[in-house]
Amino acid sequence: MSLIKAYYACKPILPWALRTALRRARARFKRDACSDRWPIDPTAAVIPAGWTGWPRNKGFALVLTHDVEGTRGLNRVQRLMDVEAGMGFKSSFNFVPEGAYRVPDDLRFTLEKSGFEVGIHGLKHDGKLYSTHAEFSRRAARIREYRQKWQVSGFRSPFMHHNLDWIQELGMEYDASTFDTDPFEPQADGTGTIFPFWVSNRKGGGYVELPYTLVQDYNLFVILQERTNEIWKRKLDWIAEHGGMVLMNTHPDYMWFEGSRGRDEYPVNLYSELLSYIRQKHEGAYWHALPREVARFFCSTREHRHYETVAHIDGATEPSLPTENLVANPNARAQGLA
Ligand SMILES: [Zn+2]
Repeated sequence: MSLIKAYYACKPILPWALRTALRRARARFKRDACSDRWPIDPTAAVIPAGWTGWPRNKGFALVLTHDVEGTRGLNRVQRLMDVEAGMGFKSSFNFVPEGAYRVPDDLRFTLEKSGFEVGIHGLKHDGKLYSTHAEFSRRAARIREYRQKWQVSGFRSPFMHHNLDWIQELGMEYDASTFDTDPFEPQADGTGTIFPFWVSNRKGGGYVELPYTLVQDYNLFVILQERTNEIWKRKLDWIAEHGGMVLMNTHPDYMWFEGSRGRDEYPVNLYSELLSYIRQKHEGAYWHALPREVARFFCSTREHRHYETVAHIDGATEPSLPTENLVANPNARAQGLA
């Protein structure tokens, strides 16, 4: 049994404090070992061949996404929406269709009506989506049903597990289960780019891959125990400078709004203060878009066809990416960090 499988098998019986202590120790080691490529991997800024820039000549893109892990997060969706909308931002919320909660139809309608986006975050949240290809395909059929019913465009896997070839089965416009560089994830193979890229299938179709490019909130504040959002700001400024895509993934589950603060929560103002910073420092310089808008823009340019070269993300820890997978990202490569 691999380490990852062993971890998920034991996870339910390990107390939170022990799991977190293990993750913190591992993260400290990774942070030191990967200081040349986290939080910034300099090679990820290479402009992809054929890249024609962002709409309206904007310098960079800003995409805000959230994964809703459990009931606590679900109960905070409206509140987080209000924070963002009040500051002139919009985002996507990815829900688990058959996880610890049921997604009220009203909430989905409210999000869509308010200019936000709804996406799908796995089928369950148990770390088993990729356990075998047969299991993935079984769950993919259910995910396609929710895609239809909820009318969604995008997907993100729980725990950022990814197999770009299998994800084709979901029939999504985009996937957002990868990252430019993130040594703290269980499957730590970064895509090595801060730009979207195309993942083709053999039938001439495919989907757009949108790697997240800022460290996730839980890792930053709970695992790495940072007290400020300076790492977010530094990376954001660097992406802006290089014309890439700032794609954030944060979780309402871990945002502390009021009352007594849980040990796995961080003050929501660390997030909202970053939004203020973006507006103040980069006003007018960025294209703020929903992930589906980025995916559609990217497809509409069609220029991506010109750099649809064959590349591999080799050396992935399991679940592994089949080596025959076609990835339209010339920078794609393994970081071998797992
Ligand atoms: Zn999740």
